[in-house]
Amino acid sequence: MENTKELRTWLDDFNLNHPLVIAGPCSAETEEQVLNIAHQLKDTDATVLRAGIWKPRTRPGNFEGVGALGLKWLQKAKQETGMLTATEVANKDHVKLALEHDIDILWIGARTTVSPFIIQEIADALNGTDKIVLVKNPVNPDLPLWLGAIERLYTANIKKLGVIHRGFSTYEKTRYRNNPEWQIPIELQNRFPDLPLICDPSHIAGRRDIISDICQTALDLNFDGLMVETHYDPDNAWSDAKQQITPATLIQMMIDLKVRKATDTEADYRNALNTLRTQIDVVDHQLIEMLGKRMKVADSIGELKKDKNVAILQTKRWNEILGKMILEGNERGLSEEFILKIFKAIHQESINHQEKIINS
Ligand code: PEP
Ligand code: MN
Repeated sequence: MENTKELRTWLDDFNLNHPLVIAGPCSAETEEQVLNIAHQLKDTDATVLRAGIWKPRTRPGNFEGVGALGLKWLQKAKQETGMLTATEVANKDHVKLALEHDIDILWIGARTTVSPFIIQEIADALNGTDKIVLVKNPVNPDLPLWLGAIERLYTANIKKLGVIHRGFSTYEKTRYRNNPEWQIPIELQNRFPDLPLICDPSHIAGRRDIISDICQTALDLNFDGLMVETHYDPDNAWSDAKQQITPATLIQMMIDLKVRKATDTEADYRNALNTLRTQIDVVDHQLIEMLGKRMKVADSIGELKKDKNVAILQTKRWNEILGKMILEGNERGLSEEFILKIFKAIHQESINHQEKIINS
């Protein structure tokens, strides 16, 4: 991908003075539900109505979508409200049906982006059309795999492209349903600054209460838009009930979110500074998480030493660690003095943790 400027013309053509908002239910359930939600979203910041028609469920037995029938409901919603429509496609048959029903934006789900075969199949089915295609990140935190999907579409002459960040699965349970790993979309943005970047806070959060925080972080990181699952009766949604919000909540959230617009050089400067500060916040948060993990390991070592009745301080091991870290730090432009200070502090905290365990 060379001339990446063209990738965002579709977005610029919307001429919005706010981030692009894609909203609508996780799944289309009934015609009445789709139309009701569409009418509530009409004349709000939401430009695009989303609804899943074919739902990729991790385990069988959950609602798997209404199928092609729902495409007619989306068409009707578009007719009645003038909103653009978006749905997920996961194979060439989906693409064919979505094209036949004049769906404006097709997105590729996280479980599909992981498979180069299916991405290629979808890319071939789309060749020669001028659809907008948004690619969700793969479920695993793998930037080349994500970019590979974009490249396959680009090579198949699809030039109206964008990406959706929906977080990454983890085995460990965290506060998120899918860990944001913000450094990955940040790196993608550094490599392809013109590729429209949209955040899906709903699948990152998995719960309602942290959606607006996630949106704010995304906007602070200069994301171009938001895709938010929206339902008139979230608790009774047929899929992803916990993470959907009402249209009214979405409207209020868009009022409350701080959107920074670069209007002059001063604003430009503040914008750039804020983006970098948010990147620092992301890394600081990771540092604390890593330190917490390190101390948990130290606790386990404490338990072992207690069982074996071994002394806490093992000078030889400590000197080895220090030597290695000074070398690694050097490679990353960190001074020896700094590494010594940091690791002395970390070591002290480990000893404190182990002492607590041994004396308990
Ligand atoms: C969805 O958008 O409803 C969906 C299934 O998303 P993902 O592919 O991110 O899990
Ligand atoms: Mn969903």
